[in-house]
Amino acid sequence: MAQGKDIINLGIGQPDFKTPDHIVQAGIKALQDGHHGYTPANGIAPLRQAVAQDLERRHGAPVDPDCVVVVPGGKPTMFFAVLMFGEPGAEILYPNPGFPIYESVIKFSGATPIPYALQEDNDFAFDADQVLAKITPATRLIIINSPANPTGGVTPKTEIDKLVAGLAKHPHVALLSDEIYSQMLYGGRTHTSLLTYPEIRDRLIMLDGWSKTYAMTGWRLGYAVWPKALVADVTRLCINDHSCVNAAAQYAGLAALTGPQDAVAEMMVAFDQRRQLIVQALNSLPGVSCVDASGAFYAFPNIKATGMTSRQAQDLFLNEANVATISGTSFGAWGEGYVRFSYANSAQNIERAIERIRKVMK
Ligand code: PLP
Repeated sequence: MAQGKDIINLGIGQPDFKTPDHIVQAGIKALQDGHHGYTPANGIAPLRQAVAQDLERRHGAPVDPDCVVVVPGGKPTMFFAVLMFGEPGAEILYPNPGFPIYESVIKFSGATPIPYALQEDNDFAFDADQVLAKITPATRLIIINSPANPTGGVTPKTEIDKLVAGLAKHPHVALLSDEIYSQMLYGGRTHTSLLTYPEIRDRLIMLDGWSKTYAMTGWRLGYAVWPKALVADVTRLCINDHSCVNAAAQYAGLAALTGPQDAVAEMMVAFDQRRQLIVQALNSLPGVSCVDASGAFYAFPNIKATGMTSRQAQDLFLNEANVATISGTSFGAWGEGYVRFSYANSAQNIERAIERIRKVMK
């Protein structure tokens, strides 16, 4: 793009929509009303209450607002959780292919990253038996992510039931459930939050936020529900790390949760149309097959029959077709044979991108 090329960007990991106007206005008003100082490190009380109510409404599970810790985006919760549980000698399980930050932060903590596979023949849902089989006495934390990046996979309730039941035998293992795409589901799929299992609440960190649902990636606003016993520790990490989240962003986040949800619904209608378009178009390419994974805003087609590696496909698409995508291997070694296509771009651009790719694959 910097060289003046007309690149169609299907590599992007954020909604291509603007933050809904009433949310922007609430942020502006907060600044005009003089919310310029520090806030409590764990977030303003009305926001934590609104988060608890929103979670209760969406998942039907009671949430104590005092267990909600508001942080600058989804990532800080991952970092804090892994810092707390990771150290040399400890093992942390994480999905592969998966959000690359998991493995990177686990390594940074000194813990050993233990990948578990998300497989195409299972529609990229995790297999609870496979995850449970990897637990050892050194396991401290399991990271799960549904709906998932980069695959769009959604794990069904039966599999989550099985994971939670299996964890009863491993009381030393905590769980970080990354549910940042929990409202991005298609084709009638439903999301099962780990918050709906009271038996693991004392060892569950449930991460969610505003970035994807409300198109607010640049505001830096997210939260997690923490076990009561860890709230003081994570709040201390917040004080030491960032003091608090930008005050105006918190008021904007409050408006997002308590105001009209029509903009979210409209965005999801657009994503759903694009999903159907891209999955069908990818399946029409020679040597490419794509499962209809039903969550987030990513398609993760299998390109093995083209004879290219993921990296070669990514480079061909970028250099010859002027279409930016991301090699599956950027999400872990087991992403080989796949390429991530984001459909956070217009239907017209998606159609143009696939036609360009079709030409260079002939
Ligand atoms: N979790 C997953 C699975 C993601 O894909 C992302 C962003 O791409 C995040 C968390 C981080 O979100 P944030 O931008 O709010 O830090």
